[in-house]
Amino acid sequence: MTVIRTIREVWRSRPTIEGAGVHLKRVFGNQEAPRLDPFLLLDDFRSDDPSKYLPGFPWHPHRGIETITYVLEGDVEHGDSMGNRGDITAGDVQWMTAGSGIVHQEMPRGDAQGRMGGFQLWANLPASHKMMDPRYRDVKRSEIPEVSMEGGAKVKIVSGRVNGVQGPVRDIVTDPEDLDVAVPKGARFTHPVKKGHTVFAYVVEGSACFDAGRDPHARETLVHYGDGDAVSITAEKEPVRFLLVSGKPIGEPVAWYGPIVMNTPEEIRIAFDEYRNGTFIKHR
Ligand code: FE
Repeated sequence: MTVIRTIREVWRSRPTIEGAGVHLKRVFGNQEAPRLDPFLLLDDFRSDDPSKYLPGFPWHPHRGIETITYVLEGDVEHGDSMGNRGDITAGDVQWMTAGSGIVHQEMPRGDAQGRMGGFQLWANLPASHKMMDPRYRDVKRSEIPEVSMEGGAKVKIVSGRVNGVQGPVRDIVTDPEDLDVAVPKGARFTHPVKKGHTVFAYVVEGSACFDAGRDPHARETLVHYGDGDAVSITAEKEPVRFLLVSGKPIGEPVAWYGPIVMNTPEEIRIAFDEYRNGTFIKHR
């Protein structure tokens, strides 16, 4: 029998300032991360005020995690210690596995109207993969399949599978599914998820009922589901767009300082010592 997941907890994203002075909304971070294993952080950086995002995220290191950047409006200029340079433009996803370490900068640039928008998700890596070679999956908008469901929902698949269609990002250790779902007013979206995996939805726009027994939830709300085999979302009063993310919990100790997430405080100390003395980068 299919068990439809019910909501475990719900909260709103909160304003915070990151990088060199970027005003954004933090959906979750180190307070909530222990309950969302393997996910560590989600930021919502939608803004129409360039002074609030142009300061950007100048050169900084990452080790032990993956960062997944999904741009909705504007561009993010990206450059890194391996000499990669490029723009993540509206509709694109950059899936970066920092592994043993990269040093990069991420500089948001608005569109012609000054609007900027997108999300950055951090996924943890297990001890066995924290020091893997860094890698990128640069996924262009045109490479992200969109599936039209019976009933009217439209789903963009970054990773995972919907109606037999698989997204372009594969072979990720935490087996994540990352979907951008739009459901028209009056329609329902039901989707199987793996039992035991962490599943959350984040409302991008509009509102919907994420659990048949509960009131609708609106823009900038995080819905964390309890366990089960499927989720069912109904757009009762208006259309809704949300991110639906799932992943396999890692279940290891987390030692986290800023952009570096390891298993022990000793590993954090080593990482920052290496950053200071110039031996942080292991891969050229
Ligand atoms: Fe970064």
